[in-house]
Amino acid sequence: MGSIVILGGGLAGLSTAWHLQKAGYNNYHLFEKESRIGGLTRSETVDGFTFDYTGHLLHFKDKNIKETVLGLLGENIGFIERNSWIYSKNVFTRYPFQTNTYGLPEEVIKECIIGFIEAKYGRNGSGVSSNDSKPQEEKTFEDWIYENFGSGIAKHFMIPYNEKLWTVPPSEMTTEWMGRFVPQTSLEQILDGALSDQSQKVGYNANFYYPLNGGIEALPKAFASSLSNIHTDSEIQKIDLIEKKVTLKNGEEIRYDKLVSSLPLNILANSINTLPANIKNSIANLRYNSVFNINLGVDRDLSDKHWVYFPELEYSFYRIGFSSNFSPYMAPKGTSSIYIEISYTDNRPIDKKRAVEKVKEDLIKARILKESDKILVEKCFEIKCAYVIYDKNRTKIVNQIKDFLKENDIYTIGRYGSWEYAGMEDAIIQGKDIAGEIVLADKEGYVLKKPDRIPAVSIVIPVYNEEKILESAVKEIVVEADKLNIDYELIICENGSKDRTLEIGQNLSIIYPQVRAIHCPEPNYGAALELGILKSIGENVVCFEIDFWDGPFIEIAKVLLRKYDAVVGSKGAKGARDRRPLIRRIITYSFNLFLRIFFGFQGTDTHGIKAFRRDKSIKIVNDCKTSKDIFATELILRMQRAGFYMCEIPLEIEERRPPTIGLLKRVPSTIKNLFTLWKATRNLKSTDVKKLEPIPKILE
Ligand SMILES: Cc1cc2nc3c(=O)[nH]c(=O)nc-3n(C[C@H](O)[C@H](O)[C@H](O)COP(=O)(O)OP(=O)(O)OC[C@H]3O[C@@H](n4cnc5c(N)ncnc54)[C@H](O)[C@@H]3O)c2cc1C
Repeated sequence: MGSIVILGGGLAGLSTAWHLQKAGYNNYHLFEKESRIGGLTRSETVDGFTFDYTGHLLHFKDKNIKETVLGLLGENIGFIERNSWIYSKNVFTRYPFQTNTYGLPEEVIKECIIGFIEAKYGRNGSGVSSNDSKPQEEKTFEDWIYENFGSGIAKHFMIPYNEKLWTVPPSEMTTEWMGRFVPQTSLEQILDGALSDQSQKVGYNANFYYPLNGGIEALPKAFASSLSNIHTDSEIQKIDLIEKKVTLKNGEEIRYDKLVSSLPLNILANSINTLPANIKNSIANLRYNSVFNINLGVDRDLSDKHWVYFPELEYSFYRIGFSSNFSPYMAPKGTSSIYIEISYTDNRPIDKKRAVEKVKEDLIKARILKESDKILVEKCFEIKCAYVIYDKNRTKIVNQIKDFLKENDIYTIGRYGSWEYAGMEDAIIQGKDIAGEIVLADKEGYVLKKPDRIPAVSIVIPVYNEEKILESAVKEIVVEADKLNIDYELIICENGSKDRTLEIGQNLSIIYPQVRAIHCPEPNYGAALELGILKSIGENVVCFEIDFWDGPFIEIAKVLLRKYDAVVGSKGAKGARDRRPLIRRIITYSFNLFLRIFFGFQGTDTHGIKAFRRDKSIKIVNDCKTSKDIFATELILRMQRAGFYMCEIPLEIEERRPPTIGLLKRVPSTIKNLFTLWKATRNLKSTDVKKLEPIPKILE
């Protein structure tokens, strides 16, 4: 592969380089405009005080990333239980506001409780809340706040705080960004939190990790310590898509084969010389706010709190934090360091000179500082692009730009490259994923460009979170398939796994030349199966499950596919032996009966293992509109309606492990899937529909 150019030396760019290097790819070059790597995770030390670009605390949801980060930081890490607060109505209450109103004026508590009850159960318990009439897709963040927390919590915290942080009213925002960031609650928690002080922690950041020494910059430094091709003081100014080269501010030109950028999407797009006019116009509508971060070193021990939210407008900042409480090495003994965050935009500017004085006044008003306190150090940082604003245009514009960039071999990642509300861990994950994609594409490109033969069979297996069995199952399949003495390839279609499934798949593809691992970012069985089929190159495709496959089926299907277009393994055909629990058999039977009555299905099963001729089926696969579990059903229905000549092989099956999702829980999604299927197939013309021919049982 030619050279991989990485733009930006924040965590996203560094993680890309680190994971590429780990996979043995040293053909990358990373360019960072500043004189130091780290981006938003840099730290500055002044007179013994270490300040970050505002508080940067580490939270993990991904076990592998946690292992990587903790491995890199070694001993230099602390694990800390959160102590976070809200200051309003002249009192400190615990975070989150909604479950900790104890201590606020009674009137406020009453409004919060009544508002919550009305939102959840309707006025007078009618069950109808004020927003019920609005279609889901039109609901704004403000609607969501009122619906989930009610008018009291909205008025006293959620609306004013969020408007202060985002600089736009929640009514202009969507809810796409929230995910884990806004903890939900129950009436019981609200009442508990109103009646007494709750020390129980709620939310995604109930505890956190933080480096002991060097501030958060210890993390990017740890990533960079083993990397060789890092170029600082290297600002990218132009990108030429035709010649595939980037031009630095000093005029130097660098050619690339693949370009990974973590630059803010608007800066990246504007540096492209041939950007289509419609995209250029859209970019101007991407909105963001800026954060002015004031850091103070104070001559005494101020507090044991970690951070405090300020929803009230009379305070100029939306949040402050005490970084000296993250690690004892952040400030000289007996002193404290405070970081203060103020957001602003061009439309809501702030006077930065006056801001520092106003902050000190406000801190005294909130009884955090005393008049007599001595400020030893002052250090301000400007974060120009701090929070991207999720208005109704954001997603459409971001997708439009990303599609254009991808078509031109540019991957854009990171908080600002993806133009999203995300943390350090997300930036590291995205760097890892993109490195994996580049490595895979390189491997696949090699296979696709230079097949020394077209295999007779491509075995396609979607896998999700299968780290426990993937390796052993693939080894068993390879042993069985090798016995058949046919050319085959095995495609592992990992989709959105949170565990090591992708990594194991990649390793297997290195060990076995006939194995390929491909990656689909979303956990989506149908999308993974579809991708696997589209990427396959064999004459025939066999679709298996990782815990439901059969060596002889490959051989029998291969013979039958000389006569038939598709072969479907059936749990319901005459001669099949379905030894799964009764309830599962009933569900399968009912589902297929439903397909026969309402979709005119002429067979007995769509969900089993199957095989088909690749060339003939590829258009049908491309035409399928559904994904997830229902994709396999749509595929078979479409094949039948297109007049495919198909047969069914009765299967013997027993449950090897219980289903991951409870059967009852699957009912709503199955109904939804059937409706989606109906929409996808209702206008589909039928030509020469043939009944699936039953084949006598031969798999004994
Ligand atoms: C106020 C605030 C608080 C936060 N708190 C937390 C927290 O507590 N926990 C958490 O997990 N996350 C937090 N985050 C998010 C976290 O900072 C980011 O998710 C993460 O650092 C993003 O890394 P990145 O590599 O995507 O972007 P960046 O760190 O912004 O890296 C992009 C890099 O590109 C470089 N660059 C830009 N233009 C050019 C150019 N033309 N040529 C070359 N280089 C260029 C920049 O100098 C920069 O180094 C916070 C963010 C903000 C704004």
